[in-house]
Amino acid sequence: LVQLGMPTRVVETTCAYCGVGCTFRAEIQDRPVDDDADVLPGSPTTVPEVVRMVPARSGGANEGHSCVKGRFAYGYTNHEDRQLHPMVRDSIDEEWRVVAWDEAIRRVADGFRAIQDRHGVGAVGGISSSRCTNEEVYVVQKMVRAAFGNNNVDTCARVCHSPTGYGLNQTFGTSAGTQDFESVDHTDVVLLIGANPTDAHPVFGSRLKQRLRHGAQIIVADPRRIDLVRSPHVEAASHLPLLPGSNVAFINAMAHVVVTEGLADEEFLRERCEDVDPYLEFIRRDENSPEATAAATGLDPEQVRAAARLYASAPNGSIYYGLGVTEHSQGSTMVMGLANLAMLTGNIGRKGVGVNPLRGQNNVQGSCDMGSFPHELPGYRHISRPEVRAIYEDLWGVSLDPEPGLRIPNMFDAAIGGTFRGLYVQGEDIAQSDPNLQHVRAALTSMELVVVQDLFLNETARYAHVFLPGSSFLEKDGTFTNAERRLGRVRPIMPSKVGKDEWQVVCEIATAMGFPMHYDDAAQIMDEIAATTPTFAGVSLERLDREGSMQWPVNEAAPTGTPTMHVEQFVRGRGRLVPTVFVPTTETTNRRFPLILTTGRILSQYNVGAQTRRTANSTWHPEDVLEIHPSDAELRGIRTGDRVELSSRVGTTTLTAQVSERMQPGVVYTTFHHPVTGANVVTTENSDWATNCPEYKVTAVQVAVANAG
Ligand code: SF4
Repeated sequence: LVQLGMPTRVVETTCAYCGVGCTFRAEIQDRPVDDDADVLPGSPTTVPEVVRMVPARSGGANEGHSCVKGRFAYGYTNHEDRQLHPMVRDSIDEEWRVVAWDEAIRRVADGFRAIQDRHGVGAVGGISSSRCTNEEVYVVQKMVRAAFGNNNVDTCARVCHSPTGYGLNQTFGTSAGTQDFESVDHTDVVLLIGANPTDAHPVFGSRLKQRLRHGAQIIVADPRRIDLVRSPHVEAASHLPLLPGSNVAFINAMAHVVVTEGLADEEFLRERCEDVDPYLEFIRRDENSPEATAAATGLDPEQVRAAARLYASAPNGSIYYGLGVTEHSQGSTMVMGLANLAMLTGNIGRKGVGVNPLRGQNNVQGSCDMGSFPHELPGYRHISRPEVRAIYEDLWGVSLDPEPGLRIPNMFDAAIGGTFRGLYVQGEDIAQSDPNLQHVRAALTSMELVVVQDLFLNETARYAHVFLPGSSFLEKDGTFTNAERRLGRVRPIMPSKVGKDEWQVVCEIATAMGFPMHYDDAAQIMDEIAATTPTFAGVSLERLDREGSMQWPVNEAAPTGTPTMHVEQFVRGRGRLVPTVFVPTTETTNRRFPLILTTGRILSQYNVGAQTRRTANSTWHPEDVLEIHPSDAELRGIRTGDRVELSSRVGTTTLTAQVSERMQPGVVYTTFHHPVTGANVVTTENSDWATNCPEYKVTAVQVAVANAG
């Protein structure tokens, strides 16, 4: 079998890339260890190797489909860059020194305690990762709250879907999408805004296309002419190329048409919603009409009117959105605007409708669910609520701080201000992914102790004093939660290559800091989550193994899970309509920076590329390029293939130009998969008013041929 390359066993697990959460059957061959291999006596005589990833039919999210990332891009787990040993150094100018786990953990624990002794309890914090399992994220927030003694814990969801958390919580009462993916098979009209599923969520994108081929219509609101505007057998009913930064003006115009043209579902508003009259009074105002908002959106008012009529008149109208909604100074307002539109038209609480955030990373939903925000305990319960704190205080035997802690950007500001001195970062490359990298690097450089836990020595590790090796998804045990709230099993295909599970490392740090933390396995962590979080009360790893994936809430009221939310009533009782006043971003063009940069992703690569750049996928997209409209290119003497300088008020980078009709005049676009390009060198510190999610999607820039003199 080994010679034939045939699998010797098969393990079902969940893709570690996007929020679709596809299930795969990993076909594994247990290969004999080479005779001349340097192994310790008693070590296993075989090493497991994945020979194929086959999309599983049993997976509730993908039903046998997959994309080029999940199916082929897993080789990074064995890449030569993978770091397998803990390392320390006294300053970031020194070489790394490999040490034993005990020494590394002692160094972290003593370092954080010493900082707290000198600068106070709040001088340290931690960032958890949406790439990690629910169980791993849960123990990080527990370590920070119970061992560090503060609430300075945040997650990389801060920089992507934190406005979804705020906006859907305010309007519906919980921070999650309303539907399962299967729901799209029942929709008649899709409003797709700020999302490019064929690149970023490919398996869902294919399912959506399938539905469009069978008669549903789609309205695409996006500054860029994405694939779903026109591709083989798919033609959008409307493409609305709105100007970056004008989302709220646009959604208000859509709602204005619905209300003033008598298209609202008055029965739904009367029976299911509250604060209806103030909202209706607000949205009827002339300032919200398509004509009045046209200067901000750049859209033809008649086209907006037609789109609003199409969505509102559909038997089932659905909304799908991505980071083009959230990563704005009014990201949270826009999420509430989408919720308003769905409620106005009665498109909530059944198949084929709803408000559906397409989550970026594999476990964005889960990392938020697990209480890794500074103001919320697991299950989105505010830290200031004594009855919720009491659940954890009784179980953990500590007093919890009732005050919310620092968000990621606040940590950076406090570091530069001298009051935040130590940071643990798990699986997020903040020195590549966060905006205004000059600011991030200054913050990291000013800290006394930066601890990075990751597969690779990433950009953030350049500023670290302790490096703790992490485990890849092929070595993890636990769960990921996808964009439809589906808990999928992540099963270990091989033991951790670094000798410890990540949750175990976190427990050992907490224990060394004086707060004993121990679990036998990931199942025990999930049992604690279920025992303390009502929406997960019916979840256990044993049950997921027996019955398959489930969508939360899973509890007494919903014993087998919840594919569609808010059926009879909203989680908060009545849905709340919120007036969404449009406030233009302060990031505006001027003579020096006359273009707007917006950013996104490409099919073969993934986020900062830490994984996909270390696979054959990199041959398809070896660098980030700058897309620019022919008229803007001609004005600057730019041709496809030219090296160009991209500058904003905070920084400059150089990349290759691609002249493209996908762009509209005045707007340029790039991806951020490669650190050498560093698109976030130019993005600014502007952020969402409610959540501090960075305004990645709007940066005033100039483009010029590089070295043009
Ligand atoms: Fe993985 Fe997403 Fe591709 Fe599915 S669609 S295989 S979850 S990257």
